[in-house]
Amino acid sequence: MRQFITDVVKGLTSLIYPTQCLGCYKGGSSLCDDCALYWTYQPSIVQKIPFPIYAIAPYSIEVSRVVLLAKENGNVQAQSMLATAIAQLLASATPQNFKECFLVPIPSKRSSIRRRGEKFLIPILSEVTKIMSSKSETHYSVAEILEIQRSVRDQSGLTSKERVANMKSAYRVKLPVKSEKNFAANPVIIVDDVITTGSTMASAYRALKERNLTVIAGAAACASPARIPIR
Ligand SMILES: [Zn+2]
Repeated sequence: MRQFITDVVKGLTSLIYPTQCLGCYKGGSSLCDDCALYWTYQPSIVQKIPFPIYAIAPYSIEVSRVVLLAKENGNVQAQSMLATAIAQLLASATPQNFKECFLVPIPSKRSSIRRRGEKFLIPILSEVTKIMSSKSETHYSVAEILEIQRSVRDQSGLTSKERVANMKSAYRVKLPVKSEKNFAANPVIIVDDVITTGSTMASAYRALKERNLTVIAGAAACASPARIPIR
């Protein structure tokens, strides 16, 4: 009986939410074998200076669809994909010899938060910290300490030079007074969904350095040479 009910529920759910690959819309599973391949790459360093930035999935249309679903539609499965990829990257690529490490998200623009109804990186990063608690000795926590201090243009149509100018002094750091010492004592990893030219990460890095925080790495789910709409 129980099995029967489970099957009926499953059947109904698939009628309401037909299972379809998030990357290529093929029916069957939420990520087909071909699209899953993109998310199982070895993390690689996409930029070294002034700090190493790692990414896991190389850019493809199928990858960008998952990113946009996580970002613009709050799709839970897509958010989970990104969380798993970022956790994989942290576990295998970034230094592990710390007791504590802060994951600092790149802040979303206020208009994007209004449109999406949430800061899309936050549920992803809280899932990352959960995954990491079973994978690593390091205790990861999410620290929303970056704030936008100057409005920036949408980066998607800009050249890399324009991006650097656009992102200059874009962020400031707001530390909770009580935990200022704790932040100074522990390393920080800046996290974003996509890295394109690195200008956003570089700007965040400068703001964190100004407050003497130790940035050990940047991490992005996907490395994109193309201009997909970013935040
Ligand atoms: Zn697919």
